Amino acid sequence: MQIKSKALIAGAIIALIALTTMQGYLTFNTFDLRKKSFAVESRTKIGGIVSTSYVDSLSWYYRMDFVKKIPDYKTGKITKDELLLELENAAKARNVKFLDYYNQGKSHFDLDERVLFKKEASTIQLIDKNGNTEDLLIENKDEPIFLLGTDFINDDGLLINNWNWTFDEDFINSDQELENIVIKYRASLYMKILDWDKIILKQLLLLFFIAFLLFVFVITLVTYSIRNLFKIKRISDIKTDFINNITHELKTPLATLSIATKTLTNKFAKDNKEIAQDSIDTINRQNKRLQNLIDQVVDNSLGYNDIDLNSESVILSEFITEVCNDFALTTPSNIQFLRSIEKTKIEVSIDKFYLSTAIINILNNAIKFEGTVIKLTYSTIDNWHRITIKDNGIGISKTNKKLIFDKFFRVSEKNTHDYKGLGLGLYYCNQIVKAHHGIIDVVSKLNEGSTFYIKIPIDHGKENFIS
Ligand code: ADP
Repeated sequence: MQIKSKALIAGAIIALIALTTMQGYLTFNTFDLRKKSFAVESRTKIGGIVSTSYVDSLSWYYRMDFVKKIPDYKTGKITKDELLLELENAAKARNVKFLDYYNQGKSHFDLDERVLFKKEASTIQLIDKNGNTEDLLIENKDEPIFLLGTDFINDDGLLINNWNWTFDEDFINSDQELENIVIKYRASLYMKILDWDKIILKQLLLLFFIAFLLFVFVITLVTYSIRNLFKIKRISDIKTDFINNITHELKTPLATLSIATKTLTNKFAKDNKEIAQDSIDTINRQNKRLQNLIDQVVDNSLGYNDIDLNSESVILSEFITEVCNDFALTTPSNIQFLRSIEKTKIEVSIDKFYLSTAIINILNNAIKFEGTVIKLTYSTIDNWHRITIKDNGIGISKTNKKLIFDKFFRVSEKNTHDYKGLGLGLYYCNQIVKAHHGIIDVVSKLNEGSTFYIKIPIDHGKENFIS
């Protein structure tokens, strides 16, 4: 059973870890896929905005401004840098209009505000009539020329596509001859998504939230099940202990009864009245003992709601003194029983039989669990009557302290001493105190001793006296 439940718990924990890993992987994948699909959507929308005749015409104009300056470059009137600057400036002059158009396109195509676009010239070559090529701009080597959109570093962006254009232009060269020149031009289109992760996170927020809730739910369920398993195991252990204890308690009277009845049926006893009477007495005693044992189990198992109090008004200090006197009569001589009882005249409504049973139970436990000096104190504190019973016995560990008032609970002492009992005493004390609207508690340290507290409200039963 123990191995089985351990395997069950280990299985549940492994399954939980596997589930969490899988959920994490799936969540990450969803996030990644959504990111990619957002990029594809944005790219399509940008295509819709920039692949229009209006944008084509804007591009055409700045390219023509550039082309017109090529003869000046070829005849040495301007330098290469000045020629390229011409292209840059011509594009810049059209960019304001482009941005305006792009922003309108964004709302038309429902493109996110944070998606930026950029067009730049990456390659420009001039090829003369003899087929000689002059590179004005080399891709991936020279700094590209920014044309339209918002300038950003290429590393931060995604390439949408490249666009090639070839054109030829006639011009009069320095030898006053008509010459034709071919222009090869390549532009690259980029996009950049600002706060990309945040956009996707926002889109998937509900999904992530549901996934998180499910995760918490599963964790709670597993924790609850494991705790329940432990609880069931504890209850089962307690019950087994109880059965063992009661069997142990029943064994002696039953064995004695068996011997006594055998003696009675013996021919020799039939002739001897004295022996017969002895056996009958033994049977009666053992019968009583068995009855007491059963009564103890039945009575001590009562819940505080089932306890029918036969309350009367008493002065608690006097009542406790009586209980202590009775107890002192039966205390073994090696036990030091001390008392400190505050003399009050406060009356309280209690059931003398039940409350004395609770006090005696705790006092008996103090002796049973190896207390040699036991001190009972009674005082009134704030709004409470407080009875404390302190011993210097074996003490109770922190873990067991929480359980000792549970029904049938006994501290397992398998390896050391065998203290007799059914684990009902403190449960019963607690129920009795509760029936008096009081509180029972314990402060204890293993191997140092325990102090039990019973507190009963001073107001308890006051209303009874008025009527
Ligand atoms: P029982 O005495 O029949 O075992 P109780 O309900 O009276 O049952 O006590 C429950 C458990 O609490 C005991 O088994 C014991 O381990 C612990 N206990 C009770 N009183 C004391 C005490 N004074 N000192 C140490 N342990 C105690």
